Amino acid sequence: MSSFFNTKVESLRGMDTRRADVLRKELNIVTYGDLIQHYPFRYLDRTQIYHAVDLHDDLPMVQVKGTVRTKELLGEGHKQRLIAQLHDESGTVELVWFKGVKWFEKMVKNHQEYVAFGKPASFNGKPQMVHPELEEVSEQKPGASFLQPVYSSTDKLRNFHLDSKGLSRLLSAVLKLAAPHFHETLSPELLQRYALMPKAEAMQQIHFPQSTELLQAARFRLKFEELFYIQLKLLRQRTQRKIELAGQIFDKVPSLVHFYKNILPFDLTGAQKRVIHDIYKDFCAGKQMNRLLQGDVGSGKTIVAFIAMLIAADNGAQSCMMAPTEILADQHYEGLKKFADMLGLKIGLLTGSTRTAARRVLHEQLRSGELHMLVGTHALLEDVVQFKNLGLTIMDEQHRFGVAQRSKLWQKNPNVIPHVLVMTATPIPRTLAMTLYGDLDVSVIDELPAGRKPIVTVHRFDSNRLKVFEFMRQQIREGRQVYVVYPLIEESEAMADYKDLMDGYESVTRAFPEYQVSIVHGRMTAGEKDAEMQRFIQRQTQIMVATTVIEVGVNVPNASVMVIESAERFGLSQLHQLRGRVGRGADQSYCVLMTGYKLSKDTRTRLETMVRTNNGFEIADIDLKLRGPGDLMGTQQSGVLDLLIADLAKDGKILAESRAAAQELLNDDPDLSKPLNANIRQHILSLPATAVNWSRIS
Ligand code: ADP
Ligand code: MG
Repeated sequence: MSSFFNTKVESLRGMDTRRADVLRKELNIVTYGDLIQHYPFRYLDRTQIYHAVDLHDDLPMVQVKGTVRTKELLGEGHKQRLIAQLHDESGTVELVWFKGVKWFEKMVKNHQEYVAFGKPASFNGKPQMVHPELEEVSEQKPGASFLQPVYSSTDKLRNFHLDSKGLSRLLSAVLKLAAPHFHETLSPELLQRYALMPKAEAMQQIHFPQSTELLQAARFRLKFEELFYIQLKLLRQRTQRKIELAGQIFDKVPSLVHFYKNILPFDLTGAQKRVIHDIYKDFCAGKQMNRLLQGDVGSGKTIVAFIAMLIAADNGAQSCMMAPTEILADQHYEGLKKFADMLGLKIGLLTGSTRTAARRVLHEQLRSGELHMLVGTHALLEDVVQFKNLGLTIMDEQHRFGVAQRSKLWQKNPNVIPHVLVMTATPIPRTLAMTLYGDLDVSVIDELPAGRKPIVTVHRFDSNRLKVFEFMRQQIREGRQVYVVYPLIEESEAMADYKDLMDGYESVTRAFPEYQVSIVHGRMTAGEKDAEMQRFIQRQTQIMVATTVIEVGVNVPNASVMVIESAERFGLSQLHQLRGRVGRGADQSYCVLMTGYKLSKDTRTRLETMVRTNNGFEIADIDLKLRGPGDLMGTQQSGVLDLLIADLAKDGKILAESRAAAQELLNDDPDLSKPLNANIRQHILSLPATAVNWSRIS
């Protein structure tokens, strides 16, 4: 933006250093530009006049037009209040003042016509407004009709008369000055094709809309612009990266047919085949692969990862797979070792529990190239872990890893950056994925292996626990196993959680004396956890009482019941992850959500959603709507939270449109050199380089 927008807010009439200071501290507003981008978060509708009879408690602030017939002072001292009766042709609304009573008594005139603006509430069955705004009106002066902006403010700001009203006065002043300085930031072609309101007009209308329609148009325009520039940036990064980073070529697949024909115990799903094809195409391209693989829990991502590792081995490269927990790393290792052995490939496991001697051997074999594949936890990242030729790194349950850790894995091959495959079962809603991973290639497994029965989910109140136990017993008698999950024990506080878990464990062992019960929680050492997990996997125990440590990835196909205690304390995506621990075999599986009777509206929505659907993407969308993107895993460092006006939960359609527009633009004019696109080029050049850190996600 030009220097006008960099002017400090101190320069505005009526501002001083103290007010400027509090604006900066509370709202991070320093310049005219910042102030202008402090958009209203909602608007009060002052275009409509309501009738007194139509008022009810559920209405927001509204206007009523009528004449004051009577007014009276009631009560004494600090309990004194002024009550005026405002009549329109339909009825009466009572106007009440508790503060500044004397002053209002003088101001409010009998037989005067007013527009009263306030929040209706009923008192003793009669409509009432407390401390309404009053505006005198007459036939000559009918009162204003407009949408009144509401700005977010804080207590500190209010002390400086910078409440919503005060901010609105500042904005009105700054917009008058700014009018000649706005530049159009989009090309004439885009404005026309998407019927977008010009920038200068949109900035006026977003603050002081003249009608609902104009407000809609302004919002659309500004959201489109915001999302368009994000997508443009991400898409350009992607193009540049593809040019810059070379990758090893893995085009030989001698073992693959043998593996499919003689080793793999099932047929791949169509979706798995499609993803393997995506990966193979990347491997042949001579560019570094940077691919995100999304697939709902149980969709079979692990085998896809193994096949990618197999292709790497076929081409003389090593690969590693990093899991977020030891339990999960162990399990991957156990599962993949069988395949590797049959193929004559050497695979190793490296976790925090690996003994020093074994570690030394592993390090040696990695350096010599003897070891083809390595599975492990964060231990993989240590500097001593060096490969002869690392060609592929895979991260399972990607959201658990930070950006720094990922880039560390890249550096393990000093010659050519390894290909990267990140896998996640946290189904990221499409809109969010497009923004978060706009510079990655995304593959999706959207199909479960054949023969899986949808998990049956029910909600039960705590008072029905005996019946739930009865159901568990029946399933165990049929040879199945059962999980009972308690809310997470945070390492520090949460003594109460620990007690809940232990009480639960007690009552389960008491209720099922004939069966063996395992327990796994965050306070146990990795070794203890693993031993318990193994007992369960080997069916020595029938019931696993656990905290959310089992949330990610663990695979025990014989387990068919997941009981979630205090289900109201879990987020929707987390409930879905937990449920995904069952339904992995051919048997019918069940998920039981246990809660007390007292449930909030959001909790009820979460429970109903779980009972209604097994579709992870649908669940993620609802979760995004309930919680906003800030709480979704993986969004924190991404910058998507810096959005000024667009809302990823609601603006998916605009996002898709703006992305298509950005892609088309880049196809047509990759370096934005055409005169037609001068506005866009200009705008990009004017953006501060540090405005948003769009550093790559992985
Ligand atoms: P996730 O995608 O959640 O990581 P997994 O890779 O753990 O899922 O796979 C879940 C289970 O499904 C495993 O037991 C795996 O062997 C099995 N599986 C994977 N693909 C198929 C398939 N095409 N047909 C049958 N079973 C499969
Ligand atoms: Mg998995």
